[in-house]
Amino acid sequence: MTTTRIENATVWTGHRLPGGDIYTTDSVAFEDDRLLALGASARRIPADEVIDARGGFIAPAFGDGHVHPIFGGLEREFAPVRDHQTPHDIAAAVGVWAAEHPDIEWVRGEGFDHTLAPEGIFLASWLDAHVPDRPVVLRATDYHTVWVNSEALRRAGYTQGVPQPHDGEIVLDDAGAPTGTLREWGAWRPVYNLLPRPATSMLLSAVDFATASFASAGITWGQDAWVEPQDVDTWLTALVQGSVHVDIDLALWADPNSWREQLPQFSTARDRAESEGRGVVTAHTVKFFADGVIESGTSAMLEPFCDCPHSKGLPNWEPAELAEAVAAVDDLGFTPHIHAIGDFAVRMALDAMEHATRVNPPRDRRWVMAHTQLVDPADIPRFAELGVIANFEPYWSKYDAWQSELTAPRLGKERTDRQFQTATLAAHGARISFGSDWPVTTYSPLEGIQVAVTRQMTPGDAPWMPEERISVDDALIAYTRGVAFQSARDDAGILRPGARADFVWIDADPRAVDPMTIGAIPVRGTWRRGVRTFGG
Ligand SMILES: [Zn+2]
Repeated sequence: MTTTRIENATVWTGHRLPGGDIYTTDSVAFEDDRLLALGASARRIPADEVIDARGGFIAPAFGDGHVHPIFGGLEREFAPVRDHQTPHDIAAAVGVWAAEHPDIEWVRGEGFDHTLAPEGIFLASWLDAHVPDRPVVLRATDYHTVWVNSEALRRAGYTQGVPQPHDGEIVLDDAGAPTGTLREWGAWRPVYNLLPRPATSMLLSAVDFATASFASAGITWGQDAWVEPQDVDTWLTALVQGSVHVDIDLALWADPNSWREQLPQFSTARDRAESEGRGVVTAHTVKFFADGVIESGTSAMLEPFCDCPHSKGLPNWEPAELAEAVAAVDDLGFTPHIHAIGDFAVRMALDAMEHATRVNPPRDRRWVMAHTQLVDPADIPRFAELGVIANFEPYWSKYDAWQSELTAPRLGKERTDRQFQTATLAAHGARISFGSDWPVTTYSPLEGIQVAVTRQMTPGDAPWMPEERISVDDALIAYTRGVAFQSARDDAGILRPGARADFVWIDADPRAVDPMTIGAIPVRGTWRRGVRTFGG
């Protein structure tokens, strides 16, 4: 047994005192994987190791309530499509990479900026100019939009007159020919099905890179929010190799077209994780996409889009079918994790959960609405009533190009200024958890907390929807206890004797610095189950 004490710190316990303040003290002691004592009693315990935190800030380690480690980790293996200024710059970079990799048949890229083309429509011909002879498949940073060249369209059989899928959009030009932009997996899955699966070594190094990155940001647990059956192998193999540096729960993706046949596979995956996952890799969750995203016009809306008055977007499920599927996985003991962006999708997801509570026996449910972007006022109280956790990606709560270029024109002013109502939902009793959706946006919890607290892009900006800003304490709670609750780790996310020894050590108290600098506070150390995973 090893006892460690961290002292000379502001130890933020996450425990709220009767007056509303969070209890803080100056030191913490832990023995192996459990917290032993706080404050004066921690200082009295003889320790094998004493760490001087040099006046820094110790908190329960962060969790990420919605993240895509394998997608994010794989991006480095493909053509570099991030951080360009125009579609033509992206195409040129892809051309250079393709020339350097003459043996790779399918040229892939992940994470391009889908705000760079008018209405988010990217043309195959722009890519053809640089890569005419091999298929090119690029996915945008929203992970809902795909841009392909003509060779990829040809191989997928997408020509003039191609029938539209019910759960996606093959964007056509005025003459009815595919443009090269594909929205939602109903449209791009036929292309992705043609791609060779990345080599096992590539997948394993993606897990290693992603989870080590999370540890460096103070994270010890993540919800992998989109897993297909073969990914379970990847995680369990990575675990054996020592490449999994956070605890992870896998959300098994429910296909609207085949969820009934998937149910036995879900149970098999959960059992495998149970027997081989060593408590590090679990598979307790099933992921549903109720809709797409507003920027592509694929979110499901109660009222039409402003720039496209005939469209209310694209629900991925029939409401009755979603209700049946959610009830079925709930009955099997899984946690439904439902991506819902538009107000119709949010309502449909709440209706599905309500249906499950009617047809299934009561149980301790930790179900999650992921993203929670636009909620009709009538649905706000239903989160607390049904015990639905509102998961936000706080880094999105600012008026950036995603909002000004692609979202606001579709939603109009009233709906635009009603997005990501973190404070309102909390005031109505909803439990809040935070996540990053990395690689969509940064995995750094501190950067997310900065936006949750300020809703600003730069120090000079006016805050966007200032009434929805939350305190640093509440933002820390959402990224610690909120995520721990979501994952049913009731001994995590709070510092008290007997709790998990999962900590983060950062340089400064985020409550004491200029809020616009919270994201830049250096992380000094991360401990998971008492073992240092970063900064040792
Ligand atoms: Zn996601």
